[in-house]
Amino acid sequence: MTATVTPTRPDGTSPGGSGAVVLHYTLKALGRISAARGGEVGNSRRIHEVIPGSVVRGALAAAWWAGDAPSGANAARFRELFESDLIVRQAVPDGMSLEPISARRCKYPTPACPVEWHDLAQQGEPMKKCPTCGGALDAGRGWAWTETPRTVHVTRTALAADETAQDDQLFTRRAVRSRTVLRGSVVMLNPDAHTEDLAWLTQPRELRIGGQRSHMGQTGWTCARALDQSGLSGAVGTALSPERVTLRTLSPLIVIDDCGAPTLDLGPTLRRCWPEARVVDEWVRPARVSGWHVASGLPKPEDLACEAGSTFVIEGLPADATRQLVPGLGLRRLEGFGEIEVVAMEGPVPAQRSVAEPAERAPAEDPLDRFIAVVPAGDLPALLPRVAEGVRSVLEARPGTRGEALAAVLRQPWAMQLGAGARASLSALLAVEDLPTMRNRLDALREAHR
Ligand SMILES: [Zn+2]
Repeated sequence: MTATVTPTRPDGTSPGGSGAVVLHYTLKALGRISAARGGEVGNSRRIHEVIPGSVVRGALAAAWWAGDAPSGANAARFRELFESDLIVRQAVPDGMSLEPISARRCKYPTPACPVEWHDLAQQGEPMKKCPTCGGALDAGRGWAWTETPRTVHVTRTALAADETAQDDQLFTRRAVRSRTVLRGSVVMLNPDAHTEDLAWLTQPRELRIGGQRSHMGQTGWTCARALDQSGLSGAVGTALSPERVTLRTLSPLIVIDDCGAPTLDLGPTLRRCWPEARVVDEWVRPARVSGWHVASGLPKPEDLACEAGSTFVIEGLPADATRQLVPGLGLRRLEGFGEIEVVAMEGPVPAQRSVAEPAERAPAEDPLDRFIAVVPAGDLPALLPRVAEGVRSVLEARPGTRGEALAAVLRQPWAMQLGAGARASLSALLAVEDLPTMRNRLDALREAHR
């Protein structure tokens, strides 16, 4: 399939030539990858588990300047490629999937509750509580692990002048495990002008991704032209229904209003492209995106964004909008922001976590073992005292109020930040009949992790 699409460039100008070409790339982590997210907090550093396009783009640019450039390449060609015609999108680790912000499902499921997400954008009917148990609902949160997170904690120590370890100078950062496979795509605008660059992109090479590149970040890059040149989840060239289309962000979307001010409202951006288009419904989670400019050693400006998974129901798009949406929407698209998925309106939402769920629910499985299995090992020492305290608060609750005490534990900030699997295990762990034994086991574990 060699179909191409005819988008506009991120700056709004038409690329000319024969449109754009979508390529899919794979990064295989040969070592650990740690792409820092925002500033240092204390002595530990938060990381991107989905590697932003800007980080992958930076690694490609570094390879170019390190002598691995197409033959005859010069600075002008570098600028034309990297600052105008090449969109490099985020790399998502295998084992993560996108929970739409518009999706709902039971928060504290009983074995009878459905495990599938109910997408309010697609399935229409409002849902205020679990249809089976009548309990509270959980909302999708964007990219999430469907299995044990493939991350580890890496601790290093600052060295004194005599190369011995300095006291109180331990630095911890999380990293994506070695051998993790990450996938993403690139879009080449104006491909006729970049035949050699396309060949260069499809050559296997080693890239250094993220921070601490002296001992981390080694990855194997492979890349090939996508068979489906729509670059989107919908079928190639499918004309959009003029009535209603659901758009979902796969990466953070940065949009501005008609005065150039940051906003979470997609409406002005849509109307600048298609005057008839309007947002009829939306589920948006705000996010802040920043980054680190390696060449200058300075932080990039922070932008307000609609988090990945934000969902918009749109009316009035032209029939060929799917093609026009290939380069995405909004600002900083060369760095992979604003990647858009057009969602087919029919059919149920894929049960993205259904593979993991039956195991979590299996009655034979011990919820504490499961909790330990799905929480990153480095987080465990800090979590165990909180879990133990949670068990005590449920245990000490007045008769008939255990359900409320359990819900209160799950609402605490540390519990809200757990992944889906860990939360489900925590919920099960707090609901066991023999809470005194659970309390004793947790106390023993805390001793072991001290
Ligand atoms: Zn339920």
